[in-house]
Parts: sequence; structure tokens; C-alpha cells
Amino acid sequence: MSYNPKSLKAEEFINHEEILETLEYAENNKNNRELIEEILEKARPKKTERGVECAGLSHREASVLLACDIPELTEKMYSLAREIKEAFYGNRIVMFAPLYLSNYCVNQCVYCPYHYQNKQIPRKKLTQEEVRQEVIALQDMGHKRLAIESGEDPVNNPIEYILECIKTIYSIKHKNGAIRRVNVNIAATTVENYRKLHDAGIGTYILFQETYHKESYEKLHPTGPKHNYAYHTEAMDRAMEGGIDDVGLGVLFGLEMYKYEFAGILMHAEHLEAVHGVGPHTISIPRIKRASDIDPSVFDNGIDDDTFAKIIACIRIAVPYTGMIISTRESESCRDKVMSLGVSQISGGSRTSVGGYAGYNADERPHDTEQFDVSDQRSLDEVVRWLMEKGYIPSFCTACYREGRTGDRFMSLCKVGQIQNCCLPNALMTLKEYLEDYASPETKEIGEAMILKELENIPKEKVREIAREHLTEIEKGNRDFRF
Ligand code: SAM
Repeated sequence: MSYNPKSLKAEEFINHEEILETLEYAENNKNNRELIEEILEKARPKKTERGVECAGLSHREASVLLACDIPELTEKMYSLAREIKEAFYGNRIVMFAPLYLSNYCVNQCVYCPYHYQNKQIPRKKLTQEEVRQEVIALQDMGHKRLAIESGEDPVNNPIEYILECIKTIYSIKHKNGAIRRVNVNIAATTVENYRKLHDAGIGTYILFQETYHKESYEKLHPTGPKHNYAYHTEAMDRAMEGGIDDVGLGVLFGLEMYKYEFAGILMHAEHLEAVHGVGPHTISIPRIKRASDIDPSVFDNGIDDDTFAKIIACIRIAVPYTGMIISTRESESCRDKVMSLGVSQISGGSRTSVGGYAGYNADERPHDTEQFDVSDQRSLDEVVRWLMEKGYIPSFCTACYREGRTGDRFMSLCKVGQIQNCCLPNALMTLKEYLEDYASPETKEIGEAMILKELENIPKEKVREIAREHLTEIEKGNRDFRF
């Protein structure tokens, strides 16, 4: 098998030998100051006639940055990551919540509490009425964007069940609430099923690779359909063939050597770009957590917070147009540290159990069917206020996908620097909706001040004017404005 980013065969576009050579190259050059400075220079945002653009980095170049541990150069990496984040994402952080539909699963992923041999966990699948109740609870918190999650079980959770849930979710209009974007994190499936998901109006299709290391992958998924490395790794190509423009990659850090995973995920991004002309919409960076029947300490490759931060910075530099997601697996202090380095989406007020939202207060959380321990246990209102106190704009925006700006059309918006005239007003308007409908008085006060201040940062006067008018309309009770 030789390396070929354009190949549709998993072992050619995620080529083991290429990764080993990359790691060796990175190790040999980790103290090569001249090369590292050159790489950083290549990745720096540059003004072009179209706006601000970034070249990104190849997996080899980015791996050299990740391997380098010269403090002064690491600082330069962090500052470049912040600069890129600022150029394309500003101080906005998009908010979402996971919605667990079913924990029935036929796989045996050794790190996941849903594995079929786990007899300690009660199995549960939401009925459509329960989906309704969960969605109402999520809408009442203020969420507009969900990621649905499910185990893999063709009998209990067939694609028809997932599609029915998506339909239910989009149909619920409770008070001023609405779920405007449903992202989907379900097991690898067929082109035909991806087409059905596309037709159901999903946002991003998310599938974590877990590990790019084939041998480890097979050991970590000893039985069940997920055991098939090629089928899993080639899923994004099938998703794109099925018409899904936005796909989200991820690895579960802790399973394998992080440097291997880092090179692998960037190769996957390069492959999507080479074959489909558009890279991944998002990259998620989960770390293994304690859960029912799962002890994270048995996995040897856990990474500390500093390494985690460095991975985030290097991803930001390497794939500047790809959003980056961290979940409530991470604590408040860790999220605080890494947000400025490149994270663009976080979850808030999350429950990782099936049926964890409806009927529970903000400080109550059921643990029985939980997928993992939630480190950040704050309510959405607390997270929103905290973000604003740190200078970030919490955004509930779903405009791009609803305006058809997916795939490369989203990327070109980034590249022509229209973000400040589009994403910023959209963030402010959706924040305003949140403040009007769901925020505590304290959060509302901070938010109103932030909106006034941030309005001034919209470059185009005309856009600023329209945004002001829309904000007044929102105060009068009207909803759902967007650029
Ligand atoms: N069942 C689908 C699949 O197999 O891809 C996706 C849904 S699963 C609920 C979502 C993700 O949770 C998995 O891809 C895995 O990376 C992550 N996960 C599983 N066990 C975990 C644990 N103990 N700690 C943190 N994340 C975990």
C-alpha cells in the first residue's frame, strides 16, 4: 500500500508508512529552528486582494510543529494560533448541546460504556414523545443547535428511527424555541442512508475515527460492524457521495499515540480536500473519560492539558478554515485555556444520558445511562455568562447552513473575509434572542452591554444599520433574522 491522498482506499489515504515517516521527519526536525520559523511563516494569515487568507499546513509540516518543544517557538505557535482564530472566528463561540437518542449498541468499543457486553448500564431508547420532551427542555434552555447521538443497533436504532427523530426535532416549536440545525453523530453507514440523512436536512455528519492506527483500531473494536476499519475510515467519502457537504472528524485522544492521531486526522482532512474539493467542516478533540464499566487509566496514551492545548493550536494553524469543537468532557479551566487557541464551538448545559434533560432541574443530572462523566457541569446560562465575562460572544447562529452556505461555499465566505459582516451580526442577533427569551437578569445585563459594544465592530455601515433594526425587532418579539 502506498500513500495516495486521492485514493478512496482507507489504507492508502491514511497510510501507516507515511505516518511513521512523518513522525520520524518531525522528530528529526523538532529542533530545526530555521524550518520551524519557515513553517510558521507559511501558515501566517496574509492579506490578499480577496481578503485575508491562510495557506494551512501539510500533515508533515504540522507534525514538526507538534514535535517541537522549544518553549520560545511553542509560544510563537500559540500566538499564531490565536491570530488565525481571531482572523476567521473572531471572539465568537458557537453553542450546541448533545441529545442522546438511544444507548442500544451492538459494538464492543472497549472505551465506551454502551458496548454491548456492559450489563451494568440500563438500555434506553427515546420514544418520539420523549424526544419531544427532551427538545422542549433544550429549547427552554435556549439551544438552537443539537448534535444527536446514538449507539449502533440496526434493530433498535435503524436509520428510520434516526430519521423519525430528526423530523420530530425539527417539527417542535415551543414558545419562541426552535432547533434550527441538527448535527448527527451516528455510526458509519451506507451512501443510501447518508442520502436519507441529507434529505432530512441535517447539518454536519459527525463521525469520530477514534484512532487512525489500524491495528489498534481493530483491537479496540473487537466485534460488531464498527470492527471494520476500512468501512469506518471511508465513511466520510460515502457521506459526501450521499450529498452531505459538512462532515466532522475527530479522534478519541488517549487510545493511541497522539502524534500518530494528529498526523492521521490531518491526512484525512487532506484526503477530503483532494477528493471532494472541501476539507472537514469541523474537527472534534475528545479525551477518554470515566464511565460505567470504563476506567480511563487503563488506556496508556492519555494526554495532559498542555499537550491537549498544543494539539489544538497546531490543528488551528494547519486547517484554519475547519471549526474546532470541545465538549463538556473538558473542565471549565481546561476550556478556558484552549478556547483562544482555536476552539470555535463548545457544548453547554449538556447531559450525556438518554433522556437526561426533561424533568430535571439545572443542578440535577441522571447518571444511570450516561455516556461519560461530564466535567463542565454548569448550566447553559452560566456558560453563556462566563463566555461573555471572558470577552467571547456566545453565538446560537445556524445561518450558513440554512442559507445553503455549506461545504466549499462556507469556506469561500471565510476566505473573502466576509465573516465580520456576516457571522458577527448573526452571532449578535442570536445572542439577543437568547437574552430576551432565556437568560437570567445578570446574564442579560452583561449581554446587552456586549451587543452594544460589538455592533461597532461590524465593518460595513449598511450591515451595521440592518443589524440594529433587527435587534429592535427582536426586542419587539420577532425572531429568526439572519444575514
Ligand atoms: N455510536 C456512534 C459511533 O460509534 O460512531 C457515535 C456515537 S458515540 C455516542 C460518540 C462518541 O463518544 C464516540 O465516537 C467516542 O469517541 C466517544 N466516547 C465513547 N466512549 C467515551 C468515553 N468513555 N469518554 C469519552 N468519549 C467517549
